[in-house]
Parts: sequence; C-alpha cells; structure tokens
Amino acid sequence: MVARMLTITASQRAAMLATCIRALPDEGCGLLLGTSEGVVVDVVASDNIAASAKVYEIDPKVLLRTFRRADDEGLEVVGVFHSHTHSAAYPSPTDIRQAPDPAWHYVLVSLAQVPSELRSYSIVEGEVVEELVRVEGLAPEETSPRPSDH
Ligand SMILES: [Zn+2]
Repeated sequence: MVARMLTITASQRAAMLATCIRALPDEGCGLLLGTSEGVVVDVVASDNIAASAKVYEIDPKVLLRTFRRADDEGLEVVGVFHSHTHSAAYPSPTDIRQAPDPAWHYVLVSLAQVPSELRSYSIVEGEVVEELVRVEGLAPEETSPRPSDH
C-alpha cells in the first residue's frame, strides 16, 4: 500500500489541539474539510456528544452541516480528529471498529505527554496504516515525528 499523506497548516494543527484541550477531561473531536488529495482546508470542531474520556461521537448536526458545506464549496469531508487524554496517538479497538470510511484520514491527538502528539492513519477493514503528516508553516524539524512501527 502506498503511504498516504495529510497536509495541514500550523494553525489547523493548533486548532485541533485547542479543541482537544478545551474538551478535557473528555475526548475532543471534530471534522476535517479538504480535498481528495488530503489537503485540509478547514478544521471543524464538534462537541463530543458522548461526553466521555474514553470515546468520542461527533455531533450529528455538525456532521450534517459540514457535509452540506463541503457540497457548497466543492470540498470533501476528508477525515475526523479526536484526542486520547491518557493514551498514545494510535486508534483504539473501538476507533478501529467504528471507523466509518476507508477514504478518511483518522487524526489522533494524544495529550498523554508534553508536548502533545498528532498522528494520522488510514483505517481500512480493520487495518491501521500510519500516514505522513505534513505541517505547512513549520520548519522541518518542528513537523510531527516520522511514522513509527507500533
Ligand atoms: Zn480514540
């Protein structure tokens, strides 16, 4: 499988982190609006309507509104992000089981350590493959760590 890439800006990265920190002690979450090439155009924060530190659920109103906006603007909902408050930035068994779309980018933000960690994965039929995350507007040494074996 060819490794896919997710391209975000430094401010989009900051927006995801801010959403996840605001949601504490629960997991934070939101949607990624962008292009089929994996270039994120906007980060859409959602309440975690599961209101849980263990799982997340995007507000269906946000989901509907974001899909409509994607249609209006010629974009796609390309993925979802959520935080792990006390565990690694890797999809949990629940995350893998509930991954709705093989084309999506699943971004995990771990707040379990300082600094926080952001990684992205594809999840296809239960198989998790880490993707490269390119952060525009940061020097190369500041971009997220290279994908590692888990
Ligand atoms: Zn999770």
